[in-house]
Amino acid sequence: MAKKIVAGNWKMNKTLDEALILVSEVVNMVKDEVTGDVQVLLFPPALYVSTLKSYVKDAPMVSIGVQNIHQKASGAFTGEISAPMVKSLGLSHVLIGHSERREYFGETNEQLAEKVDIALANGLTPIFCCGESRDLRENHDYIGFVKNQLTESLFHLTAEDLRKIVIAYEPIWAIGTGLTASAEQAQEMHAALRGHLADKYGKELAADISILYGGSVGAGNAAELFAQPDVDGGLVGGASLKSRDFTEIIKAR
Ligand code: 13P
Repeated sequence: MAKKIVAGNWKMNKTLDEALILVSEVVNMVKDEVTGDVQVLLFPPALYVSTLKSYVKDAPMVSIGVQNIHQKASGAFTGEISAPMVKSLGLSHVLIGHSERREYFGETNEQLAEKVDIALANGLTPIFCCGESRDLRENHDYIGFVKNQLTESLFHLTAEDLRKIVIAYEPIWAIGTGLTASAEQAQEMHAALRGHLADKYGKELAADISILYGGSVGAGNAAELFAQPDVDGGLVGGASLKSRDFTEIIKAR
């Protein structure tokens, strides 16, 4: 069985003071209102992770990760952060290949394969992001395109390593647009991706991989999306910046 996960990607938002308020609110609401089995991941700007980490230590359900890492362990890469640095803070999760990284920073499937490798080598869990553009969805083989993102960045992994990956399907046309994929559209892609994993790694392993949906997930649509058999939770952008909305989404998993 795939683990239920709700993750909040704060992207490049919040000053430190605002971040401290948000994390405190989320931790308190989760402690008071969320029961049962769900993992909550927060991806604040990397500058804040050390500080924010101490705020979640009494909430075992909540962990903090980073939004990106470099594919090399260290070196002359001004402004970048590495997997060993993230590990040295005691953090466990990293987003890899978010569509904004692919689009604005030119990240390729090949480079993301290297990022996945260095994350795993440092004991971090990659949340591997994939998804198609509107043009692809409307005019091309969009399922084949997203399957290929998995093939090129993940299929070199052993079964043992693949098991450590979380996948986040985020159709680009649904990110920050208020235009969410319908539950059927999400399920169609999630089932196709799980089938793709099963073809390579077997059904049993594929069933254990959490596949999250992202793209305008909100308090109003989360329950329907998460009710789909192959949707194991969500990767939430805008709504994760509001503690009440984010908590409602966690409760909907
Ligand atoms: P929104 O929820 O704001 O559409 O963003 C989704 C996303 O990109 C999360 O990584």
